[in-house]
Amino acid sequence: MALQPGSSLKEAFPVFAHHRELVFLDNAASCQKPVVVLEAMDKLYRTSYANVHRGVYQISEAATAQFEGARQDVARFINAASAEEVIFTRNATAALNVAAASLALGLKAGDEVLLTHLEHHANLVPWQEAAKRHQLVLKFIPVTEEGRLDLSSIDELINSRTKVLAITATSNVTGTVTELDKLIPKAKAVGATVVVDAAQAAQHLPLDVQALGCDLLAFSGHKVFGPSGIGVLWGRMELLSSLPPFEFGGNMIQEVSYESASFAPPPARFEAGTPPIAEAVGLGAAVKFIQQIGWGAICDYEEGLTRYALEKLVAVPGLRLIGPSTPEARAPVFSFVLEGVHPHDVASILDGVGVAVRAGHHCAMPLHKRFGLPATTRASFTIYNTEEDVNALVSGLAKARQMLAL
Ligand code: PLP
Repeated sequence: MALQPGSSLKEAFPVFAHHRELVFLDNAASCQKPVVVLEAMDKLYRTSYANVHRGVYQISEAATAQFEGARQDVARFINAASAEEVIFTRNATAALNVAAASLALGLKAGDEVLLTHLEHHANLVPWQEAAKRHQLVLKFIPVTEEGRLDLSSIDELINSRTKVLAITATSNVTGTVTELDKLIPKAKAVGATVVVDAAQAAQHLPLDVQALGCDLLAFSGHKVFGPSGIGVLWGRMELLSSLPPFEFGGNMIQEVSYESASFAPPPARFEAGTPPIAEAVGLGAAVKFIQQIGWGAICDYEEGLTRYALEKLVAVPGLRLIGPSTPEARAPVFSFVLEGVHPHDVASILDGVGVAVRAGHHCAMPLHKRFGLPATTRASFTIYNTEEDVNALVSGLAKARQMLAL
């Protein structure tokens, strides 16, 4: 059966057979898992599980082949020049920590790191810590009232002191898709290194690291229908080869004596210890699943769903949307407040009618402060969501207002 986005795709996800009425709208936090991912991991554990790389026996070689095969699947998914540019990490946060800590070692006091006001804490706090240690200056691209990047001062913000641009590809709060095509060439023109946080983008947009022209890019397995416990740090080989390791131990060395050690080339240099083996295999299956559906179909479908959801949400009385109200350059992630109702109460009432959403600051506290809010309710859609799911959300919101609005 051809896979296509929409309600028929729910059949590929066992959780929806288990919870028939579930309207799952927390996909920005984590996605459900298709059966191909569950089966790939199960099969590895049942038939050919062993630690990878160091075994000379057959099932270790089989496990290694599957693990390294997954690296190739991920390389194809993001159009990396080689599989060796793909480093498996614990999640996007771990990948972004490696990026900040390692790049900062090559910076000096007064160097500027340019971030945006949209950043998730995972691409903000590691830079705050790096700035403290290395006396770096953090600068920010502000956001407009609509939640898009305000590029009016970009030529001052990107200057000869800018050494790093670390930027989200898609906001997990506003759904904004940032203008990487404009910003990366500007940053490269002043010699800056560009780090892209693609944690949110990876489930909505095709990523082509070579076309983007960035230097490092991070995302998490669990947000692309893969398992938790695995993430990816992709880096340009020339840069990876010049970066020092971040963690030390087994698997990442070349030669060790009691006094010192030399380190393996990438990716092993950045993968100290036993890696997430079955998780890598699951991630490989997940990215192939996405490619089987096809980015053309995914983007068309999600654009239609975004358009429909925006139409319905902006018509809800008392609803304030935090983020663009037009579907262009926007992912189907909708954070909002409902006048007179606490965001957590909205989420609880929605849960009561079988609609799973998230409430809080979504690991973007400064961005919430920018909009004068401590918290929002967030409904985030993906390829298995439908217009009926939007309708269920909207009728749940009407119920919340009826029950609680002042
Ligand atoms: N960056 C963005 C934009 C995110 O939305 C998230 C997770 O919500 C992260 C980074 C961190 O991802 P993880 O918690 O999987 O490390």
